[in-house]
Amino acid sequence: MKAVVWKGKYALEYTDLPEPECRPGWVKIKVMAVGLCATDVHIIADKFDAGKPPHVLGHEICGDIVAVGDGCDKSLCGKRVVVETYVGCGTCEFCRTGRKHLCSAGEIGYPPYQGGEAQFVTVPVGCIREIPDSISYDEGAIIEAVACPFGALLNSGFQMGQTVLIQGVGVAGLSFIQAARAAGAGRIFCTARNDVRAAMARKFGAEVIDLRTDDAVAYIQRETGGRGVDLAIDAAGAPATIEQCFQAVVSGGMVMLYGIPSKEAVIPLPVTECILRQIRVCGYTGNEWGWDPLIQLVDRGVISLKEMVSVVMPLSRTSEAVALLESRDPHIVKVVLHPWDDNE
Ligand SMILES: [Zn+2]
Ligand SMILES: [Zn+2]
Repeated sequence: MKAVVWKGKYALEYTDLPEPECRPGWVKIKVMAVGLCATDVHIIADKFDAGKPPHVLGHEICGDIVAVGDGCDKSLCGKRVVVETYVGCGTCEFCRTGRKHLCSAGEIGYPPYQGGEAQFVTVPVGCIREIPDSISYDEGAIIEAVACPFGALLNSGFQMGQTVLIQGVGVAGLSFIQAARAAGAGRIFCTARNDVRAAMARKFGAEVIDLRTDDAVAYIQRETGGRGVDLAIDAAGAPATIEQCFQAVVSGGMVMLYGIPSKEAVIPLPVTECILRQIRVCGYTGNEWGWDPLIQLVDRGVISLKEMVSVVMPLSRTSEAVALLESRDPHIVKVVLHPWDDNE
């Protein structure tokens, strides 16, 4: 089968690999579309440590089940599925309490588990989520990217009518906006630095603070009568945006850290302010609970994935796709790769 092998810093090889075999309890998926994640780009650029090359990356996987291992229901063959990435050992404290996202067993797409930048991939049967026909393979391929912010919001205790500030309008920021709207948020504020992303954010239901002309904290204070927001989410990962979250949140509110800062960044934690104003601080990546509700909301059109799939390319052009994401073109939200386009 064709696959892209990550071999080191900016070294990606489009090559032939043996097809993976189904082990007991795992299923084999013909990958129809795979999303290129910003985390993958950071790994390829050597800015994020996630194990050693050579490896097949790709954890945003959508395709058809074509074979099942021992112990799996044979009727799964032919199902259209997306892959929830947490492998889970099944026996640790976290797995036993429904939190396999905290298990050290790791995730599909990161070493040692081969990812979906290939024509076939195998995953544990517990990781598959069937998708309805209303969701295309390309939309399915970005569900993982949306499921992480969506699951984080579900997990945060956010309530109907509450106000939220979302720092950043990348994939995560736009997903948080859509999730907050679906959750019945009162007012949704977000920060943006360009017109393209600002327009998308508005379409998804946010009030945009234009950082070219406005200060995020001053804007929030003005708009909320000096109160602040119930939840301030940093989906940008910059020291300044994180600091502003603490200034923009109401006393007793929550600051959610989601955007990963650069390895070198040193970010001071306003400890005294957190104590005296009783601010809760939490970090999130993803969890498995958000997937089923998210798929239903996409099916019903409450959450839109289509508008976030910006470009589709054949898998053989993965290096080009990486460069495209690194160009930070505001029009490029998600790039989706097709492993079978080169062979038609
Ligand atoms: Zn991802
Ligand atoms: Zn475990």
